[in-house]
Amino acid sequence: MLPPVGGRRGVRCTCNPEHVIERKLPMGISGARTARNPIFGGRDIAVDLGTANTLVYVRGEGIVLDEPSVVAINVIDGTPLAVGSEARRMIGRTPGHIKASRPLKDGVIADFEVCEKMLRYFIQQVHNRRWSKPRMVICVPSGVTGVERRAVQEAAEYAGARAPTYIIEEPIAAAIGAGLNIAAPSGSMIVDIGGGTTEVAVISLGGVVASQSSRIGGDELDEAIGQFMKKEHGLSIGVRAAEEIKIALGSAVPLTQDRMAEVRGRDLMTGLPRLVTISTTEVREAIEEPVASIVDAVKVTLDRTPPELAADIMEHGITLAGGGALLVGLPELLHAETGMPVRLAPDPLLAVVLGAGRALEEFDVFGSVIFGDGNQ
Ligand code: ADP
Ligand code: MG
Repeated sequence: MLPPVGGRRGVRCTCNPEHVIERKLPMGISGARTARNPIFGGRDIAVDLGTANTLVYVRGEGIVLDEPSVVAINVIDGTPLAVGSEARRMIGRTPGHIKASRPLKDGVIADFEVCEKMLRYFIQQVHNRRWSKPRMVICVPSGVTGVERRAVQEAAEYAGARAPTYIIEEPIAAAIGAGLNIAAPSGSMIVDIGGGTTEVAVISLGGVVASQSSRIGGDELDEAIGQFMKKEHGLSIGVRAAEEIKIALGSAVPLTQDRMAEVRGRDLMTGLPRLVTISTTEVREAIEEPVASIVDAVKVTLDRTPPELAADIMEHGITLAGGGALLVGLPELLHAETGMPVRLAPDPLLAVVLGAGRALEEFDVFGSVIFGDGNQ
């Protein structure tokens, strides 16, 4: 069973406190700016419900939770055994009756019940007042259908958020979090590369003008590395090992110096554990195809962008957010392929939740980008 939910301070340690506190308010998004906020007040929270990671921002405090979107479930009775980092450590190591899985796939909810359980756990971690429900703004990818959007709202409401749950589109949140002036009558492009998807959006006057969502994200890179190890080295490796290789050795462009690393896995022929040494060049080749698909998504969106806005992007450049943006050399590759200036958001993994949090804090400025339950 899940450990009992203690006071919020006690649970902060479930995420890396250094990471959270150190990065808590990099953009001067401190609390206390409550003026003229007709909807939000009290303990309001903003949630970035990502395929790979879920982050929670509490108004007036900053980011208080940053955990993998993973739940370990006892398949016999459906009870969650662990959520977040603890559940992630179980991936690939579970006995028959435990299943560690991600409730989101390609940016949308794949398993509603498990998603609700995960959200409930995270909400309890940051909001332990039983007598009141927190108001919540939650991020959804811009390309989702009405049904998918409603599913996210319902999951949040079942999990303990006050109805109605408010929605903010992920690219808008990412753009705010990256410090872009979204309200300007000028186009800016944001590319959010998450675990399951790459969202490309052109934003002008506070709205999404053109967007493209590709179901290629960091996970595909991990999969490509797993396939490569099988094909080229006859070695089977787990998804977590593949991700570690990607982060340690992966690059989108050739590096001046090749580096090597050892990889442990299971030999496909003998079935025994084996150690293989691989190079940065091999990893780059392994992930070439999915990386090219990410570049294509950007090119397709540029192609669909009205000329005035394309000219703006040429001037202001493309901003990259999401964990996938941290792949070494990706900004350089995108620049080479599109000719546009490309920059990384100050903290790519936090951009979406920081943007949603800032929309809460400065409701008078950003309130119009938050959608309620009605027909907005
Ligand atoms: P989501 O929004 O889907 O939850 P995130 O924005 O949290 O996704 O990004 C998670 C993805 O970023 C994962 O696929 C992870 O492997 C990848 N990632 C994180 N750090 C790096 C890095 N340094 N280099 C390459 N990929 C990274
Ligand atoms: Mg994301």
